[in-house]
Amino acid sequence: MNRTWNPRTWREKPVKYMPDDYPDMRALTRVESELSKLPPLVHPAETRRLTAALAQVSQGKAFLLQGGDCAESFKEFTTDNIRDTFRLILQMAIVLTFAGGRPVVKVGRIAGQFAKPRSSPVETLDGVTLPAYRGDIINGMDFDAAERTPDPKRLLKAYHQSSATLNLLRAYSGGGYEDLCNLHRWTLDFVAASPQGEPYRKLADSIFESLCFMSALCPAPDHTPASPTVELFTSHEALLLNFEEALTRQEASTNHWYDASAHMLWIGERTRQLDGGHVEFMRGLRNPIGVKCGPTLEPDDLMRLMDVLNPEGIPGRLTLIGRFGADKVAECLPRLMAATRQDGRPVIWSIDPMHGNTHKASNGYKTRAFDRVLSEVKGFLQVASAEGVHPGGIHLEMTGQNVTECLGGPRAVTEEDLSSRYHTHCDPRLNADQALQLSFLVAEKLHA
Ligand code: PEP
Ligand code: MN
Repeated sequence: MNRTWNPRTWREKPVKYMPDDYPDMRALTRVESELSKLPPLVHPAETRRLTAALAQVSQGKAFLLQGGDCAESFKEFTTDNIRDTFRLILQMAIVLTFAGGRPVVKVGRIAGQFAKPRSSPVETLDGVTLPAYRGDIINGMDFDAAERTPDPKRLLKAYHQSSATLNLLRAYSGGGYEDLCNLHRWTLDFVAASPQGEPYRKLADSIFESLCFMSALCPAPDHTPASPTVELFTSHEALLLNFEEALTRQEASTNHWYDASAHMLWIGERTRQLDGGHVEFMRGLRNPIGVKCGPTLEPDDLMRLMDVLNPEGIPGRLTLIGRFGADKVAECLPRLMAATRQDGRPVIWSIDPMHGNTHKASNGYKTRAFDRVLSEVKGFLQVASAEGVHPGGIHLEMTGQNVTECLGGPRAVTEEDLSSRYHTHCDPRLNADQALQLSFLVAEKLHA
């Protein structure tokens, strides 16, 4: 392989799932150039902190919780949405920390998760065929020719939305333990309101007592330096490489390249070709990176990917995110885990129990059954235990809103319910109750 790398070398490689139908390429180039002069969204020092935290995960000393929308959108960009996702991640992290007895590294699919790889480049409705929706950073969701035409201005809008989202997240993160104590009151409300939450009352009560005890030990109303804060890192799929390139900056003190659009980036299941542009782009970055690993990935391919993406085996650099489906995880995962164990270079194994478990409901809605999501997580934990590998994390599509997109869960969403609050811009997400329930169930398994 040609070892010369710069943020543009991906352009010499074949790329999949990127739009090639911008009507005005010069307008796109102008936007790329404008983006390349705008301030970074995240700083290398923060990104290095995430790598260090993930190194702990790779050694079995911590757990990774990664989650958020399938696709952020311009329309659903509200304070409430950001606050509720932040709150949900923290609620889940508290439950997982308490039960697992290990720190939880919190990474949102947020502040940049806009571009989507679509299974078909076009969509046909009532005999009309238009380009498929590819995420708000590229085109619009409405079934309308003008909306579906890629518009370069959307890159700038996505940048500014990400920036405002991060600003709010950073403000929330400075809150300290007193806020955490309040936060857990909502978890208690969940347990009280849900019949399936009842088994977790004792766990929730003891978490509450401990949090109150800690906040009494280090009171935080004046935000003294002694008061602990939480850190939420950001991540998204690095799909739209011209956007990522424009946000990639060289740190003067180290000469290292960081993609400043997020702390962590991942390569999707559909763009992990060894000789493709996405792998090429990611190999030169210092950010921690993820790779989605689906049922077609063979151990040999995985080893080649590791040779390119983390040849020296830097701890925390590489997270492998399995997404096989509930009925395939037991068949596909063991040989991949055995291969990384034998290889010896540190990796994190995480599970995305969403993308292998999507189906169409009888009324046409794209959905996922909570039971299958849970079953894939259980399968993951079983395989990890049998292979002697640390089950390092979970990767979820979820929202703090009370949506009806996935079936089942604590308040048993039915097929008939799907239409009532189906708001996702792409794949179905767990709602807050379903996500919290999942974290209690995972906590129970981690503890066992
Ligand atoms: C996603 O995470 O939204 C996604 C498209 O996943 P995958 O690449 O695993 O299909
Ligand atoms: Mn998705």
